[in-house]
Amino acid sequence: MTSPARPGHRIDLHTHSTASDGTLTPAELVRAAADAGLDVVAITDHDTTAGWAPALAALPPGLRLVRGAEISCRWFGAEPAVPLHLLAYLFDPAHPDLVAELARVRRARLERGERIVDLLRADGIDVSWPEILAAAAGGTVGRPHIAQALIRAGLVGSTSEAFGPDWLGERYRLPKEDIDVFHAVRLVRAAGGVPVFAHPRATRRGRVVPDELIVELAAAGLAGLEADHEDHSPQERAHVRALAAELGLLVTGSSDFHGTHKTVRLGAFTTAPEAYERIVAAASGVTGVASG
Ligand code: AMP
Ligand code: FE
Ligand code: FE
Ligand code: ZN
Repeated sequence: MTSPARPGHRIDLHTHSTASDGTLTPAELVRAAADAGLDVVAITDHDTTAGWAPALAALPPGLRLVRGAEISCRWFGAEPAVPLHLLAYLFDPAHPDLVAELARVRRARLERGERIVDLLRADGIDVSWPEILAAAAGGTVGRPHIAQALIRAGLVGSTSEAFGPDWLGERYRLPKEDIDVFHAVRLVRAAGGVPVFAHPRATRRGRVVPDELIVELAAAGLAGLEADHEDHSPQERAHVRALAAELGLLVTGSSDFHGTHKTVRLGAFTTAPEAYERIVAAASGVTGVASG
């Protein structure tokens, strides 16, 4: 294992590569993380671990890689169910039940992506599913890939415009077949991983879950909350911190970097070394933190 993180270390625990909806390959991502002056970076692609091996193979000297994923979840306690994201760190990537669930979600994303394209085409909007699939190049398919097709067609000017209510944000938004969030928390723990609720108060993304759910998730094994994130207002960050303190949960901050699919830069928000050490200490998956 690696030596402990020191005060002043820069730690970014939430980033995406071309293994999902980011625009840098895993190798480019770790090089960019080193160039950005990070000491620790986590690769957390949506519903996949496919970026782990290429990121590891390209790890620059001195950079530590936390292998993770961002799992598409849903809370069924409201009608309609609320989608949410669970970051999972240092879990066993071969845990059979977790592997099966992630594969199921990725398949469902493919079907849903094609149905969204069908809806667009039925309205005379010229986007091509084979072209979108080709551009995703085997990575987990998401609405950002469809957003790129809308941009290429000259229908919107930016990803954020493509996520507006007239497009993928509402009119052409279809639900995914996500994992029940309690099941996901237990699966991640069963695989030796550490689950952290991503951007839990991001009201600008849509509906958020009540604090009572976070209390229940903490009892079910949730380890932490992501507080510092660009989709949280200062008030939302403070609220998340206070809730975490009350429940004894660790707090993270991260960029949620997606390359050119978003404007945020690597290291724009970071995690304190103490919180990172708690994650490492709580993990018992087969994979430790790798060091370049
Ligand atoms: P999906 O996973 O297919 O539901 O798409 C959600 C993904 O789209 C998130 O992981 C973000 O990367 C991206 N996203 C969500 N909301 C926005 C937004 N308002 N602007 C740009 N990207 C967004
Ligand atoms: Fe994303
Ligand atoms: Fe997310
Ligand atoms: Zn993310």
